[in-house]
Amino acid sequence: MAGSDRPSEVQQWSTVPPPDNTLPFDPEPLPPLPPKWSAPLADAPAEGVWTRFEQVQITCTTTMCDANLHCFLLNKKLAKTLSPGSCRTCGQVLVSLQRTAERDLSDIDATFAALQRECIRHYFWHVPFGQKALNYARRAGRIQLEARIETRIRSRIGDKVPYRDGQQTPISRDRTDALDFALHAVASCCRKCAQYWHGIPVGRPLDDDEVEYLSELVRRYLRARLPDLQDEPMKVPPIRRRAQVHHIAASDEQAPTQGIAPARHSHAS
Ligand SMILES: [Zn+2]
Ligand SMILES: [Zn+2]
Repeated sequence: MAGSDRPSEVQQWSTVPPPDNTLPFDPEPLPPLPPKWSAPLADAPAEGVWTRFEQVQITCTTTMCDANLHCFLLNKKLAKTLSPGSCRTCGQVLVSLQRTAERDLSDIDATFAALQRECIRHYFWHVPFGQKALNYARRAGRIQLEARIETRIRSRIGDKVPYRDGQQTPISRDRTDALDFALHAVASCCRKCAQYWHGIPVGRPLDDDEVEYLSELVRRYLRARLPDLQDEPMKVPPIRRRAQVHHIAASDEQAPTQGIAPARHSHAS
């Protein structure tokens, strides 16, 4: 995946709001879900950004606008001057939150592409899984892992007012399991994120359709990111802290873990 194929139009989006229900960066129909990623930008080289990710504690409101990674969470004050889908930092209108709020599974590629324009979602779409997350997935196996999705969504964001909403899903790669990765990636980590991305109002329990829709996003994310996960549970030894470096080096499918700063989940607003 050489750096030269990166689409160059991404830096030139206007600040004019897009017509209803369209995404300004999607002139061509997106391809069906390829095996690894679901959106063209997912294949973009990450070197530049990843050096930045090493230096910051990523939160829901982190932005790196010059790297085309934004945040679309607007507080009341920002919402007076910016339209939905505008970045809270640079003000550009880059995604149609009206479109993602349709919760239309046949439009999932556009939803996934839009999610990845947000800094924190991009991070969780692309960062190598931590050891804990990989172990969790392998110990469960695909069948069990997918069977746990709905329960996890209900326990994290199903209630009318989830406990400590905005902080219930860990964000540090040491502490996040595979389902937590997915919840951040598809904006189902807390009710605030589910509200502005998926148009699900806060202040009432999730209904069954909403749980089913969000569960499907999680399932597709996990299939995209863990294409080789076996159906059945695997025996995985516990993480041995001191031996970890050698262990990782010896395993060809283990992603590097050094260099990514631990991060905290919090919603500044
Ligand atoms: Zn921005
Ligand atoms: Zn959240």
